[in-house]
Amino acid sequence: MKIIKLEAIPMSDPVPSDRQHRTDLGTKVKSDATLIRVTTDNGFTGIGTSLGSPPVVAAIVDHELSYEVVGEDPMFSELIYEKMYNGSRAQPALETGWGQPEPSRRRGMVMEAISGVDIAIWDVKAQALGIPVYQALGAVRSSVRGYASGGWAPGDEAEEELGGYAAKGFDAVKMRVVGRDGFSIPKAVRRIRAARRGIGPDVELMIDAHGSLDTSTAIRLAKEVEEFDISWFEEPVSVDDHRGQGLVRSATKIPIASGEREFTRHDFNDLMDHEAIDIAQPDVARAGGLTEIRRISAVTSARQVRLAPHAWGSAVLFAASIHAAMASPNCHILEVSQGYMPMMWELFNERFDVRSDGSVHAPDRPGLGFTLRDDTLERFKYVAGPEYDF
Ligand SMILES: [Mg+2]
Repeated sequence: MKIIKLEAIPMSDPVPSDRQHRTDLGTKVKSDATLIRVTTDNGFTGIGTSLGSPPVVAAIVDHELSYEVVGEDPMFSELIYEKMYNGSRAQPALETGWGQPEPSRRRGMVMEAISGVDIAIWDVKAQALGIPVYQALGAVRSSVRGYASGGWAPGDEAEEELGGYAAKGFDAVKMRVVGRDGFSIPKAVRRIRAARRGIGPDVELMIDAHGSLDTSTAIRLAKEVEEFDISWFEEPVSVDDHRGQGLVRSATKIPIASGEREFTRHDFNDLMDHEAIDIAQPDVARAGGLTEIRRISAVTSARQVRLAPHAWGSAVLFAASIHAAMASPNCHILEVSQGYMPMMWELFNERFDVRSDGSVHAPDRPGLGFTLRDDTLERFKYVAGPEYDF
């Protein structure tokens, strides 16, 4: 089996004006994704997806990665990953046994492009084997606990919003630390207290600061909200301050989670070297695809760090995240977005199996197990410009 074609298709999912809300990230006017498609000489087509700016990702795929991927056998998925990561030094890297990455490929949008290609290769490989991706990776389970991820409501409205997620059946919910009413420690405490009231004592509550606080503010907030039994405090400080995140972790009893903006197992190693995480949250469409997320699972499990894949994006991203969760022994929970996301819920012919107890079940179909609706490329046609208005 040989790969004969590699394509990258930019896509957008505009948010209608009456659904646009201002958060700490700005006003989201659309969601972007790049669809990756791999075709083999024996008639299989695999799909993947990348985060990053779609036209840029597409150019990286067309002008860089296609030369390493086209002509290869998808069964050699580790080889293809190493070729993409090491670029012109792939041969010496494989001969010596240590990585010699091409500088621009280690992180950033090139790694996001590599991630998408890797997902598509796993899709095609598992289809050829006639089994679901998670079984090709090595299955550890066929369903996982999901948590409802949202929580932007201002003030006491957080009670109803988070309570609503619990009423849907989720026994774990996550809210943003910065609400639509902005941020101050008293505002955050009020919202978190309201959320705990809304969900009762038995539902797990997580909080996410999007890396927006400085170390001392994050520590003060953590101390104020410890009494509300928080299961994790996500991205308390900047992604570039692993040391600061380690300081936050050492100052609070609340477990610390992060990883959605990190790349490859090397970033997670650094987080662990700084004793900065309890829960690792790699994104399969950014951190290195299914090949690298499996390595991240291995290195984090060696230090008792659990895995909770970040899964916020298109349906292809959620599908790949489901398979990653089913093949990672240290994965304990998976993110289920409560945001406005037609590109997640209306892209495929098949429905995601999210049950009334909040559990997420893997498809039993070969490959990723999902097919694009006929109108997908037309409906989610790429729209130029940034995702957020400020
Ligand atoms: Mg987050």
